[in-house]
Amino acid sequence: MDVSEFRQFARAAVDYVADYLENIRDRPVLPSVEPGYLQELIPREAPQKPEKWQDILADIERVIMPGITHWQSPHFHAYFPAANSYPAIVGEILNTGIACLGFNWAASPACTELEVIVMDWLAKMLGLPKEFLACSGGSGGGVIQGSASESTLVALLAARECRVRKLREEHSDWDAGVIKAKLVAYSSDQSNSSVEKAGVLGSVTLRLLPSDDKCRLRGATLQEAIRSDREKGLIPFYVVATLGTTGTCAFDCLDELGPICNMEGLWMHVDAAYAGSAFICPENRHFMNGLQFADSFCFNPHKWLLVNFECSAMWVKNSSHLVEAFDVDRIYLRHKNQGLAPDYRHWQIPLARRFRSLKLWMVLRSYGVQGLQDYIRHQITLAREFEDLVRGDHRFRVVTEGVLGLVCFRLKGPDQLTKRLHERLMARKKIYVIAATFQDKYIIRFVVCSRVTESRDIAFAWEEIRTEANHVLSDSID
Ligand code: PLP
Repeated sequence: MDVSEFRQFARAAVDYVADYLENIRDRPVLPSVEPGYLQELIPREAPQKPEKWQDILADIERVIMPGITHWQSPHFHAYFPAANSYPAIVGEILNTGIACLGFNWAASPACTELEVIVMDWLAKMLGLPKEFLACSGGSGGGVIQGSASESTLVALLAARECRVRKLREEHSDWDAGVIKAKLVAYSSDQSNSSVEKAGVLGSVTLRLLPSDDKCRLRGATLQEAIRSDREKGLIPFYVVATLGTTGTCAFDCLDELGPICNMEGLWMHVDAAYAGSAFICPENRHFMNGLQFADSFCFNPHKWLLVNFECSAMWVKNSSHLVEAFDVDRIYLRHKNQGLAPDYRHWQIPLARRFRSLKLWMVLRSYGVQGLQDYIRHQITLAREFEDLVRGDHRFRVVTEGVLGLVCFRLKGPDQLTKRLHERLMARKKIYVIAATFQDKYIIRFVVCSRVTESRDIAFAWEEIRTEANHVLSDSID
């Protein structure tokens, strides 16, 4: 492909994406294909000869779109949002075109320096404690990871190495392997699956402690777990507290957990993957009371802050813990300005890294702080609109206090009714919602996800749910 063809292909692709996003409301949110559908539409061998870009682009609509779940559709209310916006897409195009890899400062100085600056911008927008900011002059700073899962794992591995090093300084005859086998980490039974996975990947015991009746991890529960594990000769070292759990958007009690972690010498990592974006609005910051006790904090602009995947923002108070834990020296990685700016290879799992801060920069500048605050507030208002509709129908129960963009609800009566309702909604494919459990009861989660969701989409979703509930309830009487 030469440059003139590239220009034509890329322009046509941008037009395709713009049309796709502008008309997304008209597409069924869920695909209707069976496993293996794609193999029927695509040859079994790669082509021997070059194909025309027009044919390749045409195949997006013909073979790919039938198998797409439209996460950007205003009828998508499952999981949490997958952020998307025009400035972020442009940022991705530029990133892909420049195609530099910023594993250390010298590998592409702008790549590192823009990340340091925009992570400070973002930290100030959220009102994070100043120790997390690079500009505060301490050892804190932010880094863009690919996912919240990586942030949790990186923090766990750093905490693990930190603890092993400290114990070996105090007891030089203690074997590192023996210490590691005794390490124990904690989170709540409501934390995301990625937290449990971090324990598996980090080869440490990770205990999922019981949450209270509001799905929150409380200080007394953690304190008791630490006490009982110490009694067994284990070494508690790491806690993941969640702000905005995946199931019901519950908030662990940071102001109780934090002082315990600080007193007992445990690293506290705070996972606010979804809810963190809402902290750009001052009225939501009470949810992060106690964050001053944390060692690391993460949220995903790629969920709710209009920055396309991947963009997971992580801050640490003491970056030397990461550097000490992950520094692997090679002559080809050294440069003469070492130590004057972060070498982000030490802050993450891979060596190479993309110029992810470009798209974040584009979004922050294109929307401005006020534009982003307006966006978050609008989405929360839409969620409350939906909640009011559910509360107005006596056959339904809103099961947890509606918070941010999420509403959890069920049909009154046996679980079977809500289960049946969910099955019917999924079979009809007009909207996409997923099920969860709350206090052992089957519930449906409704999340305002799409950037283009409007009141009419909320009304549409409610009409669909209400109508299907009529069928479920009349079937149950027959
Ligand atoms: N933590 C929470 C609270 C989440 O809700 C999710 C995903 O929804 C994750 C972590 C995982 O995020 P990621 O896909 O960026 O690893």
